[in-house]
Amino acid sequence: MLEMRPVCEHCNKALLPESDEAMICAYECTFCKTCVETVLNHECPNCGGTFEKRPVKKTTS
Ligand SMILES: [Zn+2]
Ligand SMILES: [Zn+2]
Repeated sequence: MLEMRPVCEHCNKALLPESDEAMICAYECTFCKTCVETVLNHECPNCGGTFEKRPVKKTTS
């Protein structure tokens, strides 16, 4: 089950399900776009994975 973490693991910035600033690594570590680009240099500090944009939660199904 995919758990949507509500905050950046680095700076604790709030990342709402509809946020377009949320990035996840291959193992679902969650960070904000700012940390990924400026602090983490696009590499996950936990598992070395690369990041992609977390899908924005859609209200329509
Ligand atoms: Zn952050
Ligand atoms: Zn990771």
